[in-house]
Amino acid sequence: MTNRFLAAILALALPFPALAQRAAPPVPAPVDPAVAALRDAALKDDVAYDIVEGLTTEVGQRLAGTEAEARARTWAVAKLKALGFQNVRSEPYRMPVWVRGEERAEIVSPFPQKLVLTALGNSGATPDAGLTAEVAVFKTFGEFMNAPDSAIKGRIVYVGNAMAPTQDGSSYGQSGVARFVGPGIAARRGALAMVIRSIGTDTHRTPHTGVTNFPEGVKPIPAAALSVPDAKLIEAMAARGKPLTMKLVLTPRQIGERESGNVIAEVPGSDPAAGIVLVGGHLDSWDLATGAIDDASGVAITAAAAKRIMDSGRRPRRTIRVVWFGSEEVGGFGARDYARRHGAERHVVAAESDLGADRVWRFQSSLEGSAAPVAGRLASALVPLGIVHTDGGGGDGADIGPIVATGVAGIDFNQSALRYFDTHHTADDTLDRVDPEMLRQNVAAWTTMLAIVADAPEEIGPVARKSH
Ligand code: ZN
Ligand code: ZN
Repeated sequence: MTNRFLAAILALALPFPALAQRAAPPVPAPVDPAVAALRDAALKDDVAYDIVEGLTTEVGQRLAGTEAEARARTWAVAKLKALGFQNVRSEPYRMPVWVRGEERAEIVSPFPQKLVLTALGNSGATPDAGLTAEVAVFKTFGEFMNAPDSAIKGRIVYVGNAMAPTQDGSSYGQSGVARFVGPGIAARRGALAMVIRSIGTDTHRTPHTGVTNFPEGVKPIPAAALSVPDAKLIEAMAARGKPLTMKLVLTPRQIGERESGNVIAEVPGSDPAAGIVLVGGHLDSWDLATGAIDDASGVAITAAAAKRIMDSGRRPRRTIRVVWFGSEEVGGFGARDYARRHGAERHVVAAESDLGADRVWRFQSSLEGSAAPVAGRLASALVPLGIVHTDGGGGDGADIGPIVATGVAGIDFNQSALRYFDTHHTADDTLDRVDPEMLRQNVAAWTTMLAIVADAPEEIGPVARKSH
């Protein structure tokens, strides 16, 4: 989803671009009965749930670059081999690793109360005994940006920037800017630390972590997200007009370069010249929970769909390559390593599942020119799954971003994000959040896509890249 968020950051001064460009209804195309049969059989899929259940039970959290992520790779290789895929392997690379420490905060005065928060990835550390300072309270990112440096220097900066639920998830980019770049800006302006309202849509005392980035040459300051109720509490206290003093203890560490890696599996195609259809999600997760919706579900959905094509008894024309990317959460290191190793191979389509496990409601693609009829066939075949087609999009996802940027066509299956950001990056991202029926609908959508795209007789790509 990175491209969308970067666009949001760059377009900060503008209203968020309207994503819902309405398309002319796609020209109805006949649905191949073999495709329909694969689609309908996928509505009984149990493989995806088995993968999510297995990964969350037998591995659990898998923070990028840690020994837990390495165990996840070992698990993934064994699982993908057991499922019958070909050319299963792990491709290692090295990356800088950040690990969480202690995390506590309280308002010391004028209304002493404990707060619930969690450090953001790449956060700096307070002294072990903590840091106590006055809080500069800004309800929105805009207020923070417009405030004079004198209001920020020497303070703990609080930024609210509340997030509302949206079906397409676009509010994540709009509100998330406070997390993506806020701490770096606060550090440059002399803040001692930054606490933000969690980038989430729930009202529980479960803070949402996520990565933040400090610009080159800027020393990281402690940076954390308060749970939404605790953020509201800070704002209510501030409304009383007296200065707030906070004590903050955050002791995360950068532990240097460690090994991470991507796990790859294939369903070999019959025509090597026809190119590769790349599908996947990310294997790593945040460390607060078992990463069921982010993104065990994505790796499971895409692998389960590829297995359905593999088991259908008919070899696809194009190779389907399933990639379970490493270290997406902390900065897309797996995506870049994949593009470095494989960017010269002919990819024709790339698609990523990284928005949980709820129903797919829309698909978009950059299938154009000679490949436009492929999108038409796909639109028709997806109607019984309740999926609409609109223009625009295609190639969303941090992991496929570098490959898509080379002119590869993208296909997006947009899951409803209305409840995704309730538990995203929290201690509540567990198996309980996955609805098996909705997960099956996802598998059916991806199976339909692979059945049509991997076998399409048309030439697909390269596509002209629109600047996002
Ligand atoms: Zn994700
Ligand atoms: Zn995530």
